[in-house]
Amino acid sequence: DRAELGLLRDAEAVTLDGVRILLEANIELPEEALAAVAAGADGIGLFRSEFLFMGRSTLPDEEEQYAAYAAVVKAMQGKPVTIRTLDIGSDKTLDGETTVATNPALGLRAIRYCLANPDLFHTQLRALLRASAHGRVRILVPMISHMHEVHAVKRALDTARRELDARGEAYSNTVEIGAMVEIPAIAIAIEPFIEQLDFLSIGTNDLIQYTLAIDRADNAVADLYDPMHPAVLRLISHTINAADRAGKSVAVCGEMAGDSRVTRMLLGLGLKEFSMHPQQLLDIKKEVRQSHTNALRVKVASALNRAERIDLSVLAG
Ligand code: PEP
Ligand code: MG
Repeated sequence: DRAELGLLRDAEAVTLDGVRILLEANIELPEEALAAVAAGADGIGLFRSEFLFMGRSTLPDEEEQYAAYAAVVKAMQGKPVTIRTLDIGSDKTLDGETTVATNPALGLRAIRYCLANPDLFHTQLRALLRASAHGRVRILVPMISHMHEVHAVKRALDTARRELDARGEAYSNTVEIGAMVEIPAIAIAIEPFIEQLDFLSIGTNDLIQYTLAIDRADNAVADLYDPMHPAVLRLISHTINAADRAGKSVAVCGEMAGDSRVTRMLLGLGLKEFSMHPQQLLDIKKEVRQSHTNALRVKVASALNRAERIDLSVLAG
């Protein structure tokens, strides 16, 4: 009820064995930052910037993007704001885009699209850097699968910084750069990527789609879209463990992070950073406060070796 939720809002997201868990918000529009603040989020874990670009006939220019990003950064008052660069293609398309890829989910999507459209990408990077003058910005790059894409992003950022320097625009020198882990290839071979990056965010929505070869939007195969498939959980586990060893932060920002039925599983995999819809935050916090991570880690470690779907009831109570 309301009184309980009010108490929960002010309570810390700490497990029974004293592990502080970061609970952040996923937003699609700048206004939603207010809901994140109201829910007591530790920051924005995923700002899906493509929603600024969709449902309109012209692209947002640098000023419009800067205003949107800066508004979120200011609203979060020094808390980290993770803004994802344009993830267009596949299930999200720009108006007027006429070419239809043979298989959009495997096509010129997200960072692939941005690197193929450098003007559009540099404009976004300049707006993101300028927003960093107002708080703590983390730039999150979707659909990374190759190391050369990481290098290309860093070169693009250098170019954007030089352009801003030439114009005398302010930006922070401590902007962090991270990648979405949502293609199995990067999850499997994650270590060298971690060296090049400041943080990771696991996009389970796409990671499940690409691992199981199940179109996330196709109802005919929806019953096979299984977040508890051992292969999916092993990729998540491997990514979290590698980031932990390197001392880098790793979040889950896919739908799993906001699903209270799987919170214990994620805690058992060692996850300490969850990003979700603001409305899910208190439910997840409640679950966190009733969980014992050490006990869950032992149970999950043995469950990961099974061949069949993992039964969540073994993690209850
Ligand atoms: C994901 O793939 O899990 C994710 C968070 O990104 P999106 O749902 O926007 O593809
Ligand atoms: Mg995704």
